[in-house]
Amino acid sequence: MQKFQAKATTNQQNTTSYWNKMTFQSNEDMIILATPRDTRGTYKLQQPYFADLPCGNNCPAECEIRAKVIKLRDSLRPLVADGSSILVNTFLTSYQELCQSLDSRNTYSPNIALPALFDLVMSAKYAEKMVTDGGWTYCIGQAGSLVQDEPTLYFPFLKTCPRCSVKYGIKPNVKSNKPGSDTIGEIASDATLLILSEIIRRIAPSVKIGKSKDRQGDVDAIIYDETMIALLEIKSSPLVIYPLEVRLSHPMTEVYDGTSGPKHNHSVATASLDTSELSLYIPHIDLHIPLGKHRTGNWPYARLAEFVSSPQNIVKIIALWKELYDLYAGRGQRKPIDYRQWLICGCGSPVDDSKNAPGMDRTDDLKKGTYQVLKYGAYYKEKCPRRRMRAVLSSNLLALRGFDRYLAEVQDMIWTKDKYSITLGDSITSNGIKAFHSNNIFNLYDALICLTRSIYRDEHLHEISSLERFMNELCS
Ligand SMILES: [Zn+2]
Ligand SMILES: [Zn+2]
Repeated sequence: MQKFQAKATTNQQNTTSYWNKMTFQSNEDMIILATPRDTRGTYKLQQPYFADLPCGNNCPAECEIRAKVIKLRDSLRPLVADGSSILVNTFLTSYQELCQSLDSRNTYSPNIALPALFDLVMSAKYAEKMVTDGGWTYCIGQAGSLVQDEPTLYFPFLKTCPRCSVKYGIKPNVKSNKPGSDTIGEIASDATLLILSEIIRRIAPSVKIGKSKDRQGDVDAIIYDETMIALLEIKSSPLVIYPLEVRLSHPMTEVYDGTSGPKHNHSVATASLDTSELSLYIPHIDLHIPLGKHRTGNWPYARLAEFVSSPQNIVKIIALWKELYDLYAGRGQRKPIDYRQWLICGCGSPVDDSKNAPGMDRTDDLKKGTYQVLKYGAYYKEKCPRRRMRAVLSSNLLALRGFDRYLAEVQDMIWTKDKYSITLGDSITSNGIKAFHSNNIFNLYDALICLTRSIYRDEHLHEISSLERFMNELCS
């Protein structure tokens, strides 16, 4: 296999200003990956963004929410291409190559590949945001194991040693370097929108996406075209975050009780970010993905993009993720005690609080998200006379463990208000019928758009964002 070296980084002064470029070079070949910094293409940059929303300026004066939608429009920003978008684009290019064969298309279906990609992007963002010299855990593995474990430093995002918990079921309490919940929410929302925009861009290039910068506002993001505006509430949360590691050439020592000796297993350690070669470590298949030194350009996206530029490598990423997803879903071969569970977010005390369940299975999020779509209905959809607004709840994972308990009986719900009831002829009303114009009947959710599985009530949203359409476009 050819070895490619990442060379350039984003935002260098000598690159074309509207494009982010990343160059990979081997002895013979050079690959340049470029994405427009404006994901809608540079030609759009001359026009003011979001001036063409079908409600707001373009709605008749009797539209009660005209001013509110104009205010919403002013809070919107286009998605900005950065290291993570190059990672996503590179992954999807390899994925497209992989899906040329019908067999792989079935084995590596997008409802596994895309949430796997989501967790990879999240892992990169955690690493980018959180990595420090301090906060590492020193691990020499477990004495008596068949294979001698190399001395290693880990930078975990859950409260245990990733190697000892997953390989041996031993869960020492260590420092977690997880970001605060606000930060997690924000980067998870960015990663969701990024992947969603890549899906939609391929199916319906004229559809636009804007992200609200108003954190106190009602709406996280919008998806729109000339016929509708979908208001999005995003409730995403990762299934797994891969820890960082530094492999050491020899065991460490320290002074303890007045004598020097071997450093204690799972004690706190410091890694020098200037000199250490960092990797992502995936313990259940013993995979190490090299990220290079921290202070290199566009870290960690450049090396990760290089890794996923090979279809063989994304097969690994998809397969290892599917294993964990099946375990989470309670499918597949489950051993009586399955140590792989200690990698999964929300796996339970003391490793990770069960309230951190992935995707929409975080029940607080599902409850809040459901109120939010109801609010979109009563405060936006119902108020636009042209009925151009839609309410969407979006996540990386559709509720799975909580589906029956929280979503099954609510997903197809419709609502209206008494004031919309129409009087029909006496003989009919006396039969206990109450009538409403279909314009005044609303879906609770016009869609639940997720990467694992979506539920659509609105046909147009299905047309522009379904994974079946995405796959058809990718393979056409
Ligand atoms: Zn350990
Ligand atoms: Zn309107």
